[in-house]
Amino acid sequence: MLSRTIPKTQEKIPILGLGCMRLLEKKGSIDEERSKALVRYAIDKGVTHLDTAWMYHHGQSESFLGRALADGYREKITLSTKLPHWLVKTREDMDFFLNSQLSRLKTKYIDYYLVHSIGKESWDRMKALGVNEFLDQAKKDGRIRNTGFSFHEGTGIFKKIVDDYPWECCLIQYNIIDEFSQAGRDGLKYASEKGLAVFIMEPLRGGKLAKNIPGEISRILDQADIKRTSAEWALKWLWDQPEVTMVLSGMNDISQVDENCEIAKTSYPGDLTSEEHEIIRNIAKTWQSFMKVPCTGCQYCMPCHFGVNIPSCFEMYNNLFMFGDTWRTNASYVIRLGGVMSGHSVASACRDCGACVSACPQGIDIPKRLKEVSGRLEGPFYHILHLGAMVALPIMRRMAFFKKRFLSDE
Ligand code: SF4
Ligand code: SF4
Repeated sequence: MLSRTIPKTQEKIPILGLGCMRLLEKKGSIDEERSKALVRYAIDKGVTHLDTAWMYHHGQSESFLGRALADGYREKITLSTKLPHWLVKTREDMDFFLNSQLSRLKTKYIDYYLVHSIGKESWDRMKALGVNEFLDQAKKDGRIRNTGFSFHEGTGIFKKIVDDYPWECCLIQYNIIDEFSQAGRDGLKYASEKGLAVFIMEPLRGGKLAKNIPGEISRILDQADIKRTSAEWALKWLWDQPEVTMVLSGMNDISQVDENCEIAKTSYPGDLTSEEHEIIRNIAKTWQSFMKVPCTGCQYCMPCHFGVNIPSCFEMYNNLFMFGDTWRTNASYVIRLGGVMSGHSVASACRDCGACVSACPQGIDIPKRLKEVSGRLEGPFYHILHLGAMVALPIMRRMAFFKKRFLSDE
């Protein structure tokens, strides 16, 4: 397995890590036996970084890993997990979550501790609650070794957060079709220039860039002189960029581990030729041609003074047409834009002021297209999910504290 260097610590990390949010399941819970075998198989193959979070697998992922990493496996790997800021109300809550995570993971320290899915409003709130002091203190007392944040909003706020704390790393969504959305290529380069290690999530968009690919993409792959799978092109594109430190893949099958490890063995920065880049551009352009709104995620229309997250609204709307994953798209829309994790920034918040329209280089009639988005993504299903999420949030907070007070471990 090839490795790259964490700029601020000069430590090595494998270029491929295992994301533990899509482990094998049985009857709605993690399939303990098969998932443990998979995790250990990956580690033995050199995938020696594992990433998890408080909420993955309905709160089971961290406790599962604590068990799977027994028998000396914890010592073979580095581990990242994340602070669920939407459950945090006070400075003391931050210590509560970190200490609980150490207990769930059966470890004395977290190698990379990330503030989970931070955005503009949530970052301001967490700073006001004292997150910087919390991270300083946790590093000082040895509970965490490195700090970071994961991110899904736009480049402008991404750069601000990069500059707001001396992070060692960040985690961004980045792949051949998201080159210019969310933090994007610009954010990747910025973070790297500032000395942050950049970890990548969703390298294959939850596997969708690799599985059940449309005929148009298959034809490009068939006609290419170099024979590679869709996954191989997408991963090679990431590792070709020197600013990418590590790619997290949610592998849940031995054959995926084998395939990705093989690709990782020979993927060096600056490897790809201009012909290979052309093939990848063709693949990306073809995927993008399935988009309903030609939004590139450039953010020139932002900020909207009424709080609409315009590029994210279009990104999720496009996902419906590109991948047809209605359930996941609806849930993502509620959680990311419906005010669950961050501020309320859905399409229906548009007041049709028109201020954003002239800023759009794609000439998109933004208010008109936002009406389409709200029509499609804010129907009865949205309201049920939204109500459910808003009711569940305080219950989740209470449950977390109940477990801490009355149960020794999970
Ligand atoms: S037209 Fe809508 S989206 Fe654009 S700035 Fe005005 S309120 Fe925001
Ligand atoms: S300016 Fe246009 S293309 Fe850029 S993010 Fe806004 S809507 Fe999308």
